[in-house]
Amino acid sequence: MKDFDMEVPDNPDDREAPENIGNLMREGVREAGIPLGEEKIGIFARYYQELVKWNGRANLIGTLGPEEVVFKHFIDSLLCWRLGGFEQGIRLLDVGAGAGFPGVPLKIMFPEIELVALEATRKKVDFLRHILAVLGLGGGSVIWGRAEDHGARGSPLRENFDRVVARAVARLPILVEYCLPFVKCGGIFIAFKGPLAAPEVSEAGFAVEQLGGRVREVVPASLPRGYGERNLVIIEKIRPSPGRFPRRPGIPEKRPIRCSGGRN
Ligand code: SAM
Repeated sequence: MKDFDMEVPDNPDDREAPENIGNLMREGVREAGIPLGEEKIGIFARYYQELVKWNGRANLIGTLGPEEVVFKHFIDSLLCWRLGGFEQGIRLLDVGAGAGFPGVPLKIMFPEIELVALEATRKKVDFLRHILAVLGLGGGSVIWGRAEDHGARGSPLRENFDRVVARAVARLPILVEYCLPFVKCGGIFIAFKGPLAAPEVSEAGFAVEQLGGRVREVVPASLPRGYGERNLVIIEKIRPSPGRFPRRPGIPEKRPIRCSGGRN
């Protein structure tokens, strides 16, 4: 197995001085109205440096441009801060965390939450474990595997989280089958979606109901510097998810839950 903690030669084109990342973060949080202290800005600068070091090997994100990373990944991940509820001890699961979005930025902003990152790709899991360690984020853990397996009946992770988040993992009818089984009754699932959330929300209505959920609201938000519009789809868990969900790995994607015509 490769040693991912090993220092790799820097590509000078990919290097960005920490103070530049800090300045972009300061601008981003100011424009988005996110209350983030100076100490935490420094943690984001270190996160950026580690993304640059690992990106070639672990295929983490498409672009390492500092503005894109800061506005489209860091700030985007924090847009849900306004919803509140990130108190000490709440258990947050990030399904399909990839390079850590949105779970790691939320853990930086709210260090007292318990973060679990679930990710199917081994190299990304290695990165996630590394980043939690180097950023000194205690109370965080990483699980390698698929949502369909870890959310299944009998899994210790099932109905075990106050909050579940997911960004850029699947369309909503599929995503709710991955995510709602992990949410405790009374908890919420937040799906980070782009500008065109409305058709996905209506397409997912039957699946949400089948999984024991109810769409509470869709909260629009804007990224700074015109980086785009976002929607946070807030789904409450009002009943336990039936034991037959999630179905076997790959089935939710192949045959999304539908009101009629779909053989579920
Ligand atoms: N959430 C991150 C972000 O916003 O940058 C990563 C997005 S990436 C496009 C989707 C990630 O979800 C990939 O890392 C993939 O391995 C993971 N993934 C997809 N389906 C999954 C599943 N069923 N269970 C766990 N992880 C999954």
